[in-house]
Parts: sequence; structure tokens; C-alpha cells
Amino acid sequence: MNVSDERTVSLWAATEVAPDAVPLGQSEQVDVVVVGSGIAGLSVAYELAVAGQKVAVVDRGRIGSGMTARTTAHLSSVCDDYFSELIKLRGEDLARIFYQSQSAAIDRIQSIQETESIACDFRRLYGFLFPASGGRESDIERELDAALKIGVDVEKIRGVPFAGFSDTQALRYANQATFHPLKYLCGLAAGIRARGGALYPDTIVENVEETDGGVRVSTVSGFTLSAKSAVVATNSPINDRVALHTKQAPYRTYAMSFEIARDTLPDALYWDTEDPYHYVRLQPGEGRIDFLIVGGEDHKTGQADDAGDRFAALAAWTRRLVPDIGVETNRWSGQVMETVDYAGFIGRNPGNQRVFVATGDSGQGITHGVVAGLLIPT
Ligand SMILES: Cc1cc2nc3c(=O)[nH]c(=O)nc-3n(C[C@H](O)[C@H](O)[C@H](O)COP(=O)(O)OP(=O)(O)OC[C@H]3O[C@@H](n4cnc5c(N)ncnc54)[C@H](O)[C@@H]3O)c2cc1C
Repeated sequence: MNVSDERTVSLWAATEVAPDAVPLGQSEQVDVVVVGSGIAGLSVAYELAVAGQKVAVVDRGRIGSGMTARTTAHLSSVCDDYFSELIKLRGEDLARIFYQSQSAAIDRIQSIQETESIACDFRRLYGFLFPASGGRESDIERELDAALKIGVDVEKIRGVPFAGFSDTQALRYANQATFHPLKYLCGLAAGIRARGGALYPDTIVENVEETDGGVRVSTVSGFTLSAKSAVVATNSPINDRVALHTKQAPYRTYAMSFEIARDTLPDALYWDTEDPYHYVRLQPGEGRIDFLIVGGEDHKTGQADDAGDRFAALAAWTRRLVPDIGVETNRWSGQVMETVDYAGFIGRNPGNQRVFVATGDSGQGITHGVVAGLLIPT
């Protein structure tokens, strides 16, 4: 691939989710309308469809083409802002629930991809937290203590497989996972349709309002969807301009992929203690060549306009730690919503009875989206 022509295309972009779906062409009545077809919207819609509800999923673009098409898909039950910080802010009970809910999301992905036979490269693996170059080992000790207090399956080890890190103290978390996000969405979409659900791409929602006993979702094309309830899973809520937006802030994060010979690195999730941190994983490729995916260099959206420098820094960091990587195949960026307490906002929209939201991914939006699928339908 000619990288200069494809600067903002993610590694997953060649996979289209429900390419045969067509825009909403008439007004309809369903049980639940889901606005947004990323991991959150499709997870919620899937669980509702399994429970026998008639669902319609509406997206302003192609199905699954939002931030989920730009993720790096670490499926981690570990708070990436540190359990020690989460405990300080919200206490041990909430931190334990955070860990359990993210673990439940990974379990749910595993069971869905099994029951729906979704070939999405899902695999369980270890996650490794290691100190940034020059970082302090005491950070690792503090995080170990915090994680053990709330029952996290973690142990201290020595050495991670990066140049210069063979003798570094690190934490190894069990039961983490990863997958190909768009192949997984393809399976969810098929599961929704197989149960009578509808997917409407290229249909912009402009209003979500409660009516007597139900909801009305209006689209720019003039058609409406009426339902008993609605779920707004647009990553950044389109229905609520204040209550939630004042409790979260958008950050831009950058990702790149490189070819790497198979078995150069053990298949695992890796992230460091730098602020902002770097995150690394592998993705199976063809033959003996896999992909190494690296992310980082985050900044608050609107506070920097230097993407070229960010990618250069990310590439340099990667080549320093993994000198054997091959050519760059893709580079892309996207946005994450960081909340005030590192946890997502999932449930009834403030002030509504029948409108629900899933937002505040906190950089862990794949698992948070699946948690929305577990919580909202109940
Ligand atoms: C580079 C990068 C790396 C990341 N790495 C990880 C990771 O390793 N692990 C992890 O858990 N998370 C990660 N994240 C975060 C995670 O990918 C996202 O939080 C998650 O995919 C968001 O899913 P979503 O369903 O909430 O939103 P989206 O996937 O963005 O879906 C929302 C949909 O709503 C639609 N929409 C918006 N407005 C309207 C409207 N008016 N009408 C109709 N439709 C509308 C959009 O078109 C979009 O398709 C990463 C994100 C980025 C950018």
C-alpha cells in the first residue's frame, strides 16, 4: 500500500459491515431504535434482538464506520488510567465493579463470537504494563498493590520483550483479549438481521424525543422511527448538549501498523506508564507476516495540529523498542471521550425515561460498548 495516499485509513478499513444495507426509505414502528452502529449500538441492538425485540439501527454513515473502525481493540479489564487512581477517586468497591464489568464484556464477546461463529481472530492473551523509559518501578508497585486489593488477576514479572526492557519490572494481567473489530461487527450485524432487526446506513438522526408512552426519532431525510424506547450510541451524544458533555472531554489518539515477522513478539497486549501512554498489540496477517499495531501521542482535541509530528514520534518510539519491524502499512487517528472518573456513562439519559445513552468510552470503548449491551436491555 502507498502510505502517503492512505494516511488516515485504519488497518481494518477493507472490511465492510453490512455493505448491502440501504438508508431508511419510509417511516416505521419498531420496539427500539438504536442510533449509531459502532460497537455500542450494535452490541445493544444484538442483545435486544436476542431478547425478542424488533430493533432498527440507524447510522449517519456506513454501518460500523465510526470510531470502532479506528480502534486498536485491546480488550482489557484493566483501567488504563490506573486502578490506584480510580480507587483514590471512587473507592475500592467501584474499582472492583469496573474490573468485573470490563471482564464481563470480554466474556460476552467470547461467548457471542462462539455462538454466532464469528471468525474475528478473537483470542485470550496476557496484558503487560511496563514502565516508560526512565519511568519509576515504584509506579508499578503502587499499581500492583491497588490491583491486588480489588481482586485483579495480576502478577509482577521481570522483563518485557522490547529492546532495553529485558530486566524491567512489569505487571502481567491474565485473561485479557483482542480481536478484529470490524469482523466482529459483521457478525453482530448478521445476528441482528437474522432475528428480524434492520440496519439503516446513511440516515442522519436530527432529533430524539419522548412522546406519550414512546419515542420518536426524526431523520434529516424526513422519515421517522417510532418506538417504545431509543438508545443513543453515537459515541458523543447527539441528544444531550449539557449534562453529559460537561463531564467528559474529547482526546485525539494516533495509531500506526507495521509489518512484523510472525513470532518476533509474543502475542499479548502491552502498554507503558508514559503520559500519554503507548499501547501495542499484534494482528494476524498472511503467511508468516503479521501486523504490529501501536498507538499513543494523545492530546486534547483542538489543542494541537501536528499530526505529522505525532506519527513520527510514534514510529520512532516503536522502532526503538522493536527494531525488527518492517514497513508501515497504515496510520490513522480518532477520538476518545475521557470522563471525569474513567468510567463510561451508560443508562437512562438524564431527564428521560425512555431514551438511553452509551458514551464516555475513556479509551476503553470496545469493552464499554459491550457493557452497554449488557446493561441497557435489562
Ligand atoms: C486510535 C484509537 C484506538 C483505540 N483503542 C482502543 C482499545 O484498544 N480498546 C478499547 O476498548 N477502545 C479503544 N478505543 C476506543 C474505542 O474504539 C471507541 O470508544 C469505540 O469504538 C466507540 O464505539 P461507539 O459505538 O461508542 O462509537 P462509534 O463506533 O463512533 O459509533 C457511533 C456511530 O454513531 C453514528 N452517528 C453519529 N451521529 C449520528 C447521527 N446524528 N445520526 C445517526 N448516526 C450518527 C456515527 O456515524 C458512528 O458510526 C480506541 C479509539 C481510537 C480512536
